[in-house]
Amino acid sequence: MSAEQNTEKQVYLFEEGNTSMVKLLGGKGGNLAEMTALGLPIPPGFTITTAACKSYYKQGGQLSGELQAEIRAAIAALEKVKECRFGDADQPLLVSVRSGSVTSMPGMMDTILNLGLNDETVQGLARQTGSESFAFDCYRRLIGMFGEIVLGVPSLLFSQQLEALLAREGRGSEEELTAREWKQLTGVYKMLVKEHSGMEFPQDVYRQLNMAVGAVFRSWNNARAKVYRKLYSIPHDQGTAVNVQAMVFGNRGEDSGTGVLFTRNPSTGAKELYGEYLTNAQGEDVVAGLRTPRRLSELRDEMPEIYDQLAAAAAGLEAHYREMQDIEFTIENRTLYLLQTRSGKRTAQAAVKIAVELYEEGAVTREEAVSRIDAGHLDQLLHRSIAPFEELKPLAVGLPASPGGAAGMIALDAATAEAWKQNGSRVMLVSAETSPEDIHGILAAEGVLTARGGMTSHAAVVARGMGKPCVCGCDQLSIDAEQRRVHLGGYVLKEGDILSIDGTSGRIYAGAVPLSDPEMTPELLKLLDMADEIRELKIYANADTPQDARLSRELGAEGIGLCRTEHMFFSGTRLPTVQAMILADSREERLGLLERILPMQQSDFEDMFEAMNGLPMTIRLLDPPLHEFMPNLEQLAEQLRGLQLKGGAMDEQKRLKRMMNKIRSLQEKNPMLGLRGCRLGIQFPEIYDMQLEAVFRAAKAAAHRGIEVRPEIMIPLVGDPRELKELRALVDKVASEVLGEAFKSIAYRVGTMIEVPRAAVMAGKIAEHADFFSFGTNDLTQMTFGYSRDDAEGKFLNSYLDRNILSGNPFQRLDQEGVGKLIEWAVASGKEKKSFLKTGLCGEHGGDQSSIFFCQQTGLDYVSCSPYRIPYARMAAAQAVIVAAQVESADKKEQAAFRESEPSAG
Ligand code: PEP
Ligand code: MG
Repeated sequence: MSAEQNTEKQVYLFEEGNTSMVKLLGGKGGNLAEMTALGLPIPPGFTITTAACKSYYKQGGQLSGELQAEIRAAIAALEKVKECRFGDADQPLLVSVRSGSVTSMPGMMDTILNLGLNDETVQGLARQTGSESFAFDCYRRLIGMFGEIVLGVPSLLFSQQLEALLAREGRGSEEELTAREWKQLTGVYKMLVKEHSGMEFPQDVYRQLNMAVGAVFRSWNNARAKVYRKLYSIPHDQGTAVNVQAMVFGNRGEDSGTGVLFTRNPSTGAKELYGEYLTNAQGEDVVAGLRTPRRLSELRDEMPEIYDQLAAAAAGLEAHYREMQDIEFTIENRTLYLLQTRSGKRTAQAAVKIAVELYEEGAVTREEAVSRIDAGHLDQLLHRSIAPFEELKPLAVGLPASPGGAAGMIALDAATAEAWKQNGSRVMLVSAETSPEDIHGILAAEGVLTARGGMTSHAAVVARGMGKPCVCGCDQLSIDAEQRRVHLGGYVLKEGDILSIDGTSGRIYAGAVPLSDPEMTPELLKLLDMADEIRELKIYANADTPQDARLSRELGAEGIGLCRTEHMFFSGTRLPTVQAMILADSREERLGLLERILPMQQSDFEDMFEAMNGLPMTIRLLDPPLHEFMPNLEQLAEQLRGLQLKGGAMDEQKRLKRMMNKIRSLQEKNPMLGLRGCRLGIQFPEIYDMQLEAVFRAAKAAAHRGIEVRPEIMIPLVGDPRELKELRALVDKVASEVLGEAFKSIAYRVGTMIEVPRAAVMAGKIAEHADFFSFGTNDLTQMTFGYSRDDAEGKFLNSYLDRNILSGNPFQRLDQEGVGKLIEWAVASGKEKKSFLKTGLCGEHGGDQSSIFFCQQTGLDYVSCSPYRIPYARMAAAQAVIVAAQVESADKKEQAAFRESEPSAG
């Protein structure tokens, strides 16, 4: 029976469902139904649908009369199978009530066990099991869980009473308590319920059930479930299903027990049964950690027939689901029951190994294996990471700006970081924000933490490029530069104290947290090859140095999509020359200094051409405003004051004053919208001229050495076709001058960034002068939203996210509805003008999964991302093809169904 035919029905017996009904029955309900159909030993039960949960909310938190009637009918069916009755004083049926959402949310919602016990049925259970103490232990557990979950009595009050009882009676553990003492505790629990909720613990078992179902529905909206959904982008309107299932008891003596089992090792991925169990225990006891569970291999000796049944069920379930399973089981008096199966959580290393091995075993297709890899797993594998199972409490949380874990001594400025690193220490650069001047500090540091700046801030972009972990925009961080201290989420740390950061989650920890090293295992390499066979988008690198270029190629880049040439200006020895060039009073003086910079750039370009031999290399001409290369004005003023106080060093004082005046003259109110990008190139053509000369000289020299060079010159921040026209003419002029005869054999392209909204709108006209478009989505996002990319994330973006004004951070995940529309328009109108126009994306979104999906959908030719992100992008690009094919086939099915449902004409 399909879900569509039966939308009115709100309760399904396990016999009536299957996994394809997961939207209605939740993951757990769907799987229980599927396992029932497979003939596995599942205690009978039923599922109340997610649709019923939604109606519950619509009706202001009431179970409708129809739903209550359906629940009664389903209970009657259970009574028949179990040959007992709900609320019966002699043969009572007991049930568990558990949540079960569509997307697994482990531990986020609530469970109630032993429901159906009251003052009468507890006696029946005692007679049935021959153990009063067992029956009253079950009863007090029910009252405790019901009290907490349904009636909101703090659980601590119950556990305090249990502890008081143990102390009063001088018992070492719960097992030693007698029936009389359990009865006493039951009475105390009932009193607690009355006192704190104002109502008696309900004796009517149907009332218990209805109230429990309502409470599980409500637990969908408890605080931890909401946080979890936000973290994993699970829709808030999905609702949860509720599973009601006949109880089986693992705590009925030493021939009973409970445990969990993985069909493969979840930490290494090895193909072996892996799990643990406890005898004489209920499900919660294994997770509660009060007793140490035993290894599953011991069960083989203790109850061999149960072990064999379990192993057979595990193999059958893995083969059925074609995926590693996590199975919960209970043994009641040497009878095995399975309570749940689901796809097992696993480490990144295990995920990769399992996917590849399932493919090699023929259980899954290449596409399935690739689509099973969570992109986040690749982050873990390719960066040093904080051990995933580590329970740690962070001091504070900032923006996860560059993935990976790092630990080091706090250094509050770049010079200190560099000096300590030279002494052999590991350092963590902690600062309010970073500027290009701090590059040597970032280079020296294990990781970077800043108080201000967002995902596209300088620190983030540079750290990502270097593969260094970075947490940005941490508003709980303030720095006391005078006392050399930092205040972090209510704690005070000194410079030199050790701090750890997790750039994948944004968390910051005190001390050195254990880290695991990155690993390119043979399985990962195989999986990436499989992804390459599927994907259509080319993957380029954002690489600014010869080292980056070599690394990118090793990681699988098929070209360089963005070389931010200004990054070549930052290194220690070059920066003073660049600063002098900016300070130059005349064009002649500037030309002289540019002459000195030229060979530096040329040699870098030549090395990069060599690294990329045969692949395209997109070189972007200078983009940032010039003041970014100058020292900090306040520090200069401080330096000047120091000199003035001492008197003397007049020449130096003069130099400082001149520099300060120049910086002031360069300062702009809105530098992001000021003299930068192609505007700078048009204002000071000699700078672009020098860069172009360096590119083409390098290309010529490399070509002479037999290297295949494919330069692509990219003009930043174009907003009008005439800007590009003018600068294209400059490129062609310099190319022909430098290349001379070689001009004919060295083909180059000229293209533009599309990062100003006007450029996107005018794309058709701009395409007349461009061989390629590269979407600079950092600026395009900034300018389309009108949100400063350096400020928004630290200032108001979080409150916009909290209020759901924005559904995601647009600097992290491309805003497809707005910015995406501009891109679609620009691609379409650009290609209309020039069908062979090459298109790609090189903003930070090039390393984000959903943005890569968008690029695939929009028909771009490539995405470009930082070197360490390349394997991730290769995988995401393959997944984009798979998802697109799935969407297409679902659309076709829908259209076919629609055509069938149309009344035929005539
Ligand atoms: C962009 O704006 O997306 C881009 C790639 O350029 P930058 O980040 O250097 O401004
Ligand atoms: Mg830009």
